[in-house]
Amino acid sequence: MIKLILVMLLGWAGFTLFKKYLKPTLNGTVKTESGEKMVACSVCETHIPESDAIIKNGKTFCSKEHSE
Ligand SMILES: [Zn+2]
Repeated sequence: MIKLILVMLLGWAGFTLFKKYLKPTLNGTVKTESGEKMVACSVCETHIPESDAIIKNGKTFCSKEHSE
């Protein structure tokens, strides 16, 4: 009997987590797929993911050309 309750609890927990996981996808959030932060280039104001940005002297740039 205890086993049955445990299985039901696990099933319910799994279902709740599954719903939580699906919700942001259904609502279509603004964030990028990986939830990455977007930064603006100091020269042309183009928004790029932080990992693609070139950071020089505390400023962010979209490309090598703009950082020079
Ligand atoms: Zn730029």
